[in-house]
Amino acid sequence: MLQEDHPLLFEIGSEGLCAVSLSESDVPAVKGTGAIPSELLADEPPPLPEVGELDLVRHYKRLAQRCFSIDANFYPLGSCTMKYNPRVNERVAAMPGFANLHPYQGEEDVQGILELLYRLRCDLAEIAGLAETTLQPAAGAHGEMTGLMVINAYHASRGEHRPKVLAPDTAHGTNPASCAICGRESISIRSKSDGRVDLDDLRVKVDEETAAFMITNPNTVGVFDEQIADIAEIVHARGAQLYLDGANMNAILGVTRPGDFGVDCMHFNTHKTFSTPHGGGGPGAGPVAVAEHLREFLPVPQVIRRDDGSFGWSSDRPGSIGKVRSFYGQIGVLVRAYAYIRALGCDGLRDVADKAVLAANYLAARLKDRYPVPFPPPYAHEFVTVPEFGDSGVSDVDIAKRLIDYGIHPPTMSFPIHHCLMIEPTETESLATLDRFVRVMIEIADEVERDPEVVRTAPHTTPVKRLDEVLASRKPDVRWKKT
Ligand SMILES: *Cc1c(COP(=O)(O)O)cnc(C)c1O
Repeated sequence: MLQEDHPLLFEIGSEGLCAVSLSESDVPAVKGTGAIPSELLADEPPPLPEVGELDLVRHYKRLAQRCFSIDANFYPLGSCTMKYNPRVNERVAAMPGFANLHPYQGEEDVQGILELLYRLRCDLAEIAGLAETTLQPAAGAHGEMTGLMVINAYHASRGEHRPKVLAPDTAHGTNPASCAICGRESISIRSKSDGRVDLDDLRVKVDEETAAFMITNPNTVGVFDEQIADIAEIVHARGAQLYLDGANMNAILGVTRPGDFGVDCMHFNTHKTFSTPHGGGGPGAGPVAVAEHLREFLPVPQVIRRDDGSFGWSSDRPGSIGKVRSFYGQIGVLVRAYAYIRALGCDGLRDVADKAVLAANYLAARLKDRYPVPFPPPYAHEFVTVPEFGDSGVSDVDIAKRLIDYGIHPPTMSFPIHHCLMIEPTETESLATLDRFVRVMIEIADEVERDPEVVRTAPHTTPVKRLDEVLASRKPDVRWKKT
């Protein structure tokens, strides 16, 4: 399609055009002062675009077609678990009985959703191997904050103030951010060259001032740290709590349970693991599961099943940290998570983990000659490669940009190590798609040898090419400019 075909809505209209035609109103217009105070009235009507219906439809259709999505393209964005969201989830979430509810409706009116939420929180506790779950947090980061608040309340109940939280140097940026929000100092623990936690460094740094050790396992370089039981022991010996960042649950669903390997508190990213479309930063949900000794501090209200079998909300929890979300959480996302979990069942969830791990290891094995992985296999559901292209001047960013020309979403870049690509195929891609990705990656490596300029100046097929990334996020200018 010619790029001239994408003007702004303001540029395609002309005066008097309108996308709807309504009959004359027979309600008299309210004029003059009184209805709206005059100082609030604009001097001129706003300069809204005036566009006919078909042009309007085409405009938005074209914009929608420019969006990168899993429905259209492969999306191996590490740490984000960009898996296919089965259509049935959308169907279920859009059912009028769910979609048209209002949080102020009485409990007797909304027994269906209450039962769903109750069952979901029990399912998540079972998957976590922990005692109880709150569904309130609105995202993974929000779950981290909630979990740390629960842990802080636990320490406070024992008369302890513990100002420090430890996390490996591969931790996601939200981990230290959550510590700061909760008024805790975040301290980095070294990783060894095999990507695992350096236990000596942990032993030195964990002390009676440590509230928690936050670990992501499998971690962000895609390795499962099998020292986890030792880590739990070291942390617990000092009275600290073991917090699991559950963003990578996709790799261990049904294989192992965090509660079984010593975790006291964790969050899920339901939008990652349990399939809600979450490009562009939302929406999500970050349920938090805790062990028995932390239950009394969970947020209220909690959804409960009463003795008579009905469902309702309870705020009867004197030690609670209170409410962390308006109303009851991101219900639409939670409905999708429930639909996904029930559709798959126990064996299906286990199959998710097995296939996600197989897909990542397959890609790593097929790519390793051209894209070296700095850690020994096996990997979990993702892996990092640090491509090296000698003096070609080509960087990880260039590879990512060139992938766009081939219709593939760039992997995560330069996290958690500089100049790496973090590749996560997920379980939902076919062997044919994985093989095409391998072919494209090898083709790009060949291009680097043949014609590095084509890679360095990619993408070539998009409406905008290389942006000043800082300026693009601070001062976005979405106007199409003819060049
Ligand atoms: C995505 C992610 C988070 C943050 O989760 P959000 O739901 O985006 O707030 C935290 N840790 C890791 C490892 C992640 O991948």
